[in-house]
Amino acid sequence: MTVRIHKVPLGPDNSYIVRGEGTILIDGGAPKKAGRFVSACEKLSLKPEAVGLIVLTHGHWDHIGSAAEIKEITGAKIAMHGEEKDCLEKSRMLTPPGVTVWGKLFMRIMALFLPLIHIPKSTVDVVLDDEERSLADYGISGRILSTPGHSKGSVSVLLNTGDAFVGDLAMSGFPLRFTPGLPILAENMEEVRKSWKRLLAKGTKHVYPAHGKPFSVDAIKNALF
Ligand SMILES: [Zn+2]
Ligand SMILES: [Zn+2]
Repeated sequence: MTVRIHKVPLGPDNSYIVRGEGTILIDGGAPKKAGRFVSACEKLSLKPEAVGLIVLTHGHWDHIGSAAEIKEITGAKIAMHGEEKDCLEKSRMLTPPGVTVWGKLFMRIMALFLPLIHIPKSTVDVVLDDEERSLADYGISGRILSTPGHSKGSVSVLLNTGDAFVGDLAMSGFPLRFTPGLPILAENMEEVRKSWKRLLAKGTKHVYPAHGKPFSVDAIKNALF
């Protein structure tokens, strides 16, 4: 079964629609961007109700802001790590520290805007932990893996094809990075490296970051080894 991957920018980052026998959405964008999701579905001739699962890679506002509205539109379940489900269920604002000079400055600038942001609440239906979860029930040949580091409750979706949707475990675009590589914002860089080693051992070939363009995993290997 061929898998089709569609990048859907929903604010400052990308969500991805992944279509195999079933359809899933990875990440729920910034607040008030559900209209863009609907437009993307129209362009793809995809009924929004075809989406069976919304996987939220982590609890930062730019990844979960339209999840509540998209859940209403699609009727899909939401999967998220238990560590960060409060971000969606209680509108908890979680922010990562900068780990590079630019990352630290970037977060100081962002701090001016964060009080203006509100995350609409919704319920997490599939609470993830550190165990792998198959996506077979949703018609997708792949799994969800716990990949902490950028945040404690970060997860990635790894397809059997080697395509990995890693949220913010990698970054590859302006204004965060100019070239693909490790995140400039992270709670724990040691964990970031461990998570990448796990993803590499499990066959990751192509990286689909939330911020920036997809790239070959070689860029990560260069950063790690
Ligand atoms: Zn993040
Ligand atoms: Zn992000």
